Amino acid sequence: MRQTNENTSVKLKLVMLFDWRKQIYCICSHNLTPEDASQQVTELRRDGLPAFTVDQRSRHLHDDAEECAACRADVQQCVNPTPALERRKLEFRR
Ligand SMILES: [Zn+2]
Repeated sequence: MRQTNENTSVKLKLVMLFDWRKQIYCICSHNLTPEDASQQVTELRRDGLPAFTVDQRSRHLHDDAEECAACRADVQQCVNPTPALERRKLEFRR
């Protein structure tokens, strides 16, 4: 059976990396289904990265998750206090 009102009913998630000791975070990807999101988190954690999923309040329009303002807004809703520093994904890979 097909979803008729996809935009409102589908639960989308974003994946971020969050280092709570350094208080830095970055967004990896967004507009993922719950299945894709948890699969991606599993893969990132296998690489030793502190990956988490965050529920999106709506579908994000920006193509690039690393540049997406809606991602930051959703993270701020969900992580309190919001990590002060924002980093690129590369800085987590050491
Ligand atoms: Zn986004």
